[in-house]
Amino acid sequence: MRLTIIGCSGSFPGPDSPASCYLLEAEGFRLLLDLGSGAVGALQRHVGLYDIDAVCLSHLHADHCLDLCAYYVARSFHPGGPRPPIPVYGPAGTASRMARAYGLAEPPGMTEAFEFATLAPGTRQIGPFQVTTAHVNHPVETFGFRLEHGGRSVAYSADTGESAALVGLARGADLLLCEASLLDGPDLPADLHLTARQAAQHAAQAGAGRLMLTHLVPWNDRARTLEEASGVPFAGPVSLAAPGQAIDLG
Ligand SMILES: [Zn+2]
Repeated sequence: MRLTIIGCSGSFPGPDSPASCYLLEAEGFRLLLDLGSGAVGALQRHVGLYDIDAVCLSHLHADHCLDLCAYYVARSFHPGGPRPPIPVYGPAGTASRMARAYGLAEPPGMTEAFEFATLAPGTRQIGPFQVTTAHVNHPVETFGFRLEHGGRSVAYSADTGESAALVGLARGADLLLCEASLLDGPDLPADLHLTARQAAQHAAQAGAGRLMLTHLVPWNDRARTLEEASGVPFAGPVSLAAPGQAIDLG
């Protein structure tokens, strides 16, 4: 299983990174976790535009889903004809939200380009991946993920405040890809995002093998983000996600 960071900028794109998008590959199957603002551009550095087999959207905030509009154009209006539809898993209402985002009438909205499937908490097979989802703690319906293949596992926080469900998804995972939108300080908003310290606490509670901090907001100091996470007792390595970075999990 191979993970490639397509975009790791938090809440909006940064000068060097699109918003959230992660490519998971196994057995030649390519799955995108989130498709945030700007991701379709950078994606093409790593994989053919039409080589994606499935898309999972954690939630319907723009920085996690809006480049599905760009991908709709690329798949629908290719000079050689429309590309075959691929599955898009997302929260309830994803198909309508995406149709409205692009200004499409429903029907058909984007349903000729994408086969929309509604996520629910639980486990399902997507290509070669066993995919477990659970609700995490964010103002709109949001799913955290655990993807398993060949005895390896990656957990992804999506956007969340402190969440016991995230600890469950990350239990014993080889890698926890966890948002760290906030730095420690007074008057932190509740039930919205994690600080780097909280991300590390979740990784420690879960016994994850390693922690990669992501959803890095451009106005935060990255060295401080890493420093705050590193202040938490956690056995594994801690790093910051970087656009274009690939991790082979075996
Ligand atoms: Zn969000």
